[in-house]
Amino acid sequence: MKSEKGVSPAWRWAALSIRARLSMSYAAALGMMLVIYAAFVYTTVRERFGVEIDHRLDQEVEIAEQALVRDATGQLSWRMPGERVDGYVTLANMLWVDVHLTDGTLVYRLTGGYAKNRNPEALPFGRRAPGFFSTRLSSGVSLRVLQREVEVDGIRAVIRAAFPEEQIERELASLLWVLAVGLPLAIGAAGIAGYWLAGRALAPVSKMTDEAQSITADRLHARLPIANPNDELGRLGTTFNDLFARLEGSFEQLRRFTSDASHELRTPLTVIRSVGEVALRERHDEAGYREIIGAMLEESDRLAQLVQSLLTLARADGGRIPLNPAPFDLAELGEETASHLQILAEEKSQQLLFDNRAGQLPVMGDRSVMRQAVLNVLDNAIKYSPEKGPIRVVARCDNGRAILEIEDSGPGIALEHRAKVFDRFYRIDSGRSRKEGGFGLGLAIARWAVEANGGRIVVQRGDPGGSVFRMTLPLSKQAD
Ligand code: ADP
Repeated sequence: MKSEKGVSPAWRWAALSIRARLSMSYAAALGMMLVIYAAFVYTTVRERFGVEIDHRLDQEVEIAEQALVRDATGQLSWRMPGERVDGYVTLANMLWVDVHLTDGTLVYRLTGGYAKNRNPEALPFGRRAPGFFSTRLSSGVSLRVLQREVEVDGIRAVIRAAFPEEQIERELASLLWVLAVGLPLAIGAAGIAGYWLAGRALAPVSKMTDEAQSITADRLHARLPIANPNDELGRLGTTFNDLFARLEGSFEQLRRFTSDASHELRTPLTVIRSVGEVALRERHDEAGYREIIGAMLEESDRLAQLVQSLLTLARADGGRIPLNPAPFDLAELGEETASHLQILAEEKSQQLLFDNRAGQLPVMGDRSVMRQAVLNVLDNAIKYSPEKGPIRVVARCDNGRAILEIEDSGPGIALEHRAKVFDRFYRIDSGRSRKEGGFGLGLAIARWAVEANGGRIVVQRGDPGGSVFRMTLPLSKQAD
């Protein structure tokens, strides 16, 4: 059996369901408020009773004072014992009223209505400071007494009026009883109501949990049910659904990437294999074998290129390409890349021009990574421009941004393909591109390279036709 020892209450509280915790907190909060309220009601009622009793005692003593006269014998006497005095029925709720002379001689003692059948014990007379006091008789009856010294025609006397507190105590006790029984009942009812309400409020969470549990990699298209998109749970659900949508997108991308990559890898391997098989099947002279080996080398070159590109993208995705940002001149990088690829352009009799309209374009970034982007884009420009077609590399600055544009005289890229050409393995005309040696990874790498350096790359239609690839980087501060 598991021991309860060592399990802290906080842990047990945390282990409870939200529904249980909510309803318990609700009941506890309500309980606390009710206890405070009950204490307030009880003390207020008790105080009011106290004030009321003192007021009545005061009235009784007043009446008694008016009823006292000095009679013909010079003694103090009671004018109308137990009768109405000034229209007021005396002693209705009193225990007694008595009058003593200051030496302690009892002059009168009137038993009140309340004491009729009770035969109350007398309170021994004692000189004490005039005013209200509470006392308890030896029989256990508690009294509230008002004692006042008066002077009636030269005779000094002490009037005392007593009120039995028992009656008030009984009423207070029954109030206390009602509160003591009602309070736990109200707290219990609040707990049950809270549990029910919390259950209703949290029902969408249960539904969402069930649905979320059924969402696996194969069911990423499923979404959580959302009852009210504007409440807290609805917003949470929407956030999760957005997350699932992004996950679904990433999974889909990954799946496509894997299948495209395997497809691309298989093609050169198949070519190498079939060229080898054919070479083995038939006899060839030396020139024939050379040609076959040349073809195989060409394919393995393509394979190596593809593997290199895949590796670059995989490492870029994993953030494993360390970037070494340093200040460099983007215009100078454009010029250098253009002169580097000049030879390729010349092979196609193309005119590759570098147009520097900015002088210098100081930017901050990893130059070698950025060079890869410029190289890929310029390589495409040469690849897709026709023989003798002009190509321009323009360096300019605009609004605090360094811009490098590569304009070609190729077929251009239709609007619907413009965003997609930067996706991996995306080729507009796969037949033609493959013949040219592309895998559809060059622009994906270029986009990663530019964005990793805090820039943007877009493609537009060129003025006279063709395409314009624009790479934008923020100019670094020392530009001004
Ligand atoms: P590839 O290696 O196939 O050229 P890229 O990622 O570099 O792959 O380009 C993706 C696709 O975009 C290409 O297959 C091609 O259809 C199109 N493309 C890229 N650059 C140009 C360009 N300068 N002119 C026309 N089409 C282009």
